Amino acid sequence: NQPIKIGIVGYGNLGKGVELAIRQNTDLELVAVFTRRDPQSIPTEAKAIHIDQITDYRDIIDVMIICGGSSTDLPEQVPYIAQWFNTVDSFDTHAKIPEFFNTVNKAAKDHNKLSLISTGWDPGLFSMLRLLGESILPQGETYTFWGKGLSQGHSDAIRRISGVKGGVQYTIPIESALDRVRQGENPVLTTAEKHERICYVVAEDGADTSIIEHTIKTMPNYFAEYNTTVHFISEEELKANHSAMPHGGKVFRSGITGTETKQNIEFGLTLESNPEFTASVLVAFSRAVYKLAQKGETGAVTVYDIPLGALSPKSAEDLRREIL
Ligand code: NDP
Repeated sequence: NQPIKIGIVGYGNLGKGVELAIRQNTDLELVAVFTRRDPQSIPTEAKAIHIDQITDYRDIIDVMIICGGSSTDLPEQVPYIAQWFNTVDSFDTHAKIPEFFNTVNKAAKDHNKLSLISTGWDPGLFSMLRLLGESILPQGETYTFWGKGLSQGHSDAIRRISGVKGGVQYTIPIESALDRVRQGENPVLTTAEKHERICYVVAEDGADTSIIEHTIKTMPNYFAEYNTTVHFISEEELKANHSAMPHGGKVFRSGITGTETKQNIEFGLTLESNPEFTASVLVAFSRAVYKLAQKGETGAVTVYDIPLGALSPKSAEDLRREIL
């Protein structure tokens, strides 16, 4: 059997993770990495090509894994690339997913291609778990907790404050809230009641740390609604202890069957590297996209439209025998 030919678009954290993940799957082959930067500057072991030449590969690559950022890259790149290739992406701006779906669906349908949008761990695996929970326990509540993990958006917000040289932010689930959910209390909890925020900040020489701390703690939408702790640390400490990108979280469905029988589903992820894990999810879904495209499916789809077996390199027969 010929390996499935994969291309990577964009070589950031996720792009690098996809390159690593493909190496662990013998039925997949990385053909090239496409970038908007000078291809010579891209530290990949694969062939690096400028994105302007992407259409030269339309008959060579089976699935493009698009690894641009959600805020501006993906809304532009995915509908464009979906004209020529089957695609997978990790678009995670939840509120804009319906609009993004419609745009990508049109581009892919018009050109007989298949595009899986918004996969990863959330959206992605957690979406699948929320659906399972709601479908199996219709009488109940769903809870998602994120962390302990490094939040890129919140870390960026800290770094934009005047007098701040560097910094990171961790989102941490509040244990007492987790316990209430586990007990089946079905509490009403806001995002702020479920999570606290811990910031590690490097201040510029001479900067007033009390002003920085106040600016962080009162920043609307990011920190003001949360219990936020700020620690000032040295640049060396930031580099030594806060350079990794851990993340994780939990999805709960807490419900009842019959009249009062409590049933609780808990699914958790503890990740040393958010981008490497997310990339591994994208890679598994690229195989599914290839298989469904082979069967003639076109347009945009989400994780809900993918049969689980299609994610596996094993045949349906092997799956029944080995892991059912
Ligand atoms: P990065 O910021 O690392 O990369 C985004 C793009 O920026 C790359 O595709 C690359 O494009 C460009 N880029 C990367 N490094 C540089 C550089 N040094 N100089 C200039 N340009 C650079 O983002 P991530 O890979 O960490 O994440 C991508 C998206 O994935 C996020 O926006 C997030 O929304 C989503 N995500 C989704 C998850 C999920 O569970 N669904 C989980 C985690 C992330 P190019 O090579 O063309 O220059």
